[in-house]
Amino acid sequence: MLKIDSELCIGCGACEENCPFGAISVEDGLARVNEQCTLCGTCVDVCEAGALAIEEAASGEVADLSQYKGVWVYAEYRGGQLAAVSLELLGAGRCLADRLGVELAAVLIGHETGDAADRLVAHGADKVYVADSPDLAQFTDEAYAHVLEDLIRAHKPEIVLAGATAIGRSFIPTVATALGTGLTADCTGLDIDDNGQLLQTRPAFGGNIMATIVCPDTRPQMATVRPMVMQALDPDEARQGEIVRLEADSLRTESRVKVVASVAGAGEKVNLHDAEIIVAGGRGVENEKGFALVEKLAQVLGGSVAASRAAVDAGWVSHPHQVGQTGQTVAPKLYICCGISGAIQHLVGMQSSETIVAINKDPDSPIFDVADIGIVGDIFDVLPKLIAAVEAR
Ligand code: FAD
Repeated sequence: MLKIDSELCIGCGACEENCPFGAISVEDGLARVNEQCTLCGTCVDVCEAGALAIEEAASGEVADLSQYKGVWVYAEYRGGQLAAVSLELLGAGRCLADRLGVELAAVLIGHETGDAADRLVAHGADKVYVADSPDLAQFTDEAYAHVLEDLIRAHKPEIVLAGATAIGRSFIPTVATALGTGLTADCTGLDIDDNGQLLQTRPAFGGNIMATIVCPDTRPQMATVRPMVMQALDPDEARQGEIVRLEADSLRTESRVKVVASVAGAGEKVNLHDAEIIVAGGRGVENEKGFALVEKLAQVLGGSVAASRAAVDAGWVSHPHQVGQTGQTVAPKLYICCGISGAIQHLVGMQSSETIVAINKDPDSPIFDVADIGIVGDIFDVLPKLIAAVEAR
């Protein structure tokens, strides 16, 4: 916490002037701090009187974690629709909540959200908090962060999950910072350990290892997860849940940002998310002629074309086709990888696929560890035969 020494404070106002969050005001000649303080330390640096200090929690002193109960999912609502990742997170959240024996709640923020709250219940939520206000019709970091932060402070969930989408990546870190808790971004796996802690797994050190991260001293434990990594539950329209509509007046919806217009970006769009069949090529296709075989197989199967980074770097296909840590995350019914070794940075983007077929000439290639069907062979032998067989059908 920020400590103000009233003996030393001279009420000069330097802290108030320099605080980026409007968290300090000088009243009656004395600096006072409000709940906007993020402990950034700017005021401490500018205070010439040495009246300000950030106090660490005394060693051994930990927050009372037992007050925190329940698993929450931030339900993203945009363009009149719930983001698919929010339903996927309810699937993952349901497993975590059942393991912990606690409630699963969703937080829906926006305006005129139609039947979205009912859909969240059908997909596994026991409770849905609905923050509906015209001021929340457009996403702004500040307003959405305030609403979620206030709800978390009031109800104290132990776990908060959100999609690693443009919106989730933008405001969830603000919420975690305001609450003084940890956040693990871009998780690819979530579990509960024997002590009831959330195990958050994600690629680390440039994707060279998978790190499992815990948040032992603060709550809530917060994580973002990329779309298409977790599985949504089949909706059960008969499921009953509690819908809690928050008073619009009680919401902190003010924002210094005004959205004037939203303009969709131009550029090549490759939608691999909805593809049921994907054929992906890697460095092992060797050249453009090899990649043309990948494209042909995709075409005869009625599927989409994807690639490893090596194939993109070689210039055989454009970056929007890249699958993996720095590309798209996909989960088709069938993913056929041709000449791809199975580096972890590629696997994190496709390992949720229903059936994985790998074609590789090296029988020891790690791709065979994740493949349901492995074909050991040269793509220049295997692909023409596969294409001919599919065409013959
Ligand atoms: P290689 O690893 O070179 O494998 C080629 C495979 O083809 C080999 O297994 C070989 O046995 C086989 N082969 C060769 N010739 C033939 C043939 N004629 N017939 C059949 N098989 C053959 N990679 C991604 O894919 N997506 C990402 O988003 C991504 N992000 C990254 C982010 C970071 C920070 C870093 C550090 C790396 C990232 N990478 C990513 C790169 C990743 O580490 C690998 O280098 C890359 O995935 C390798 O691509 P590949 O499997 O096509 O090539």
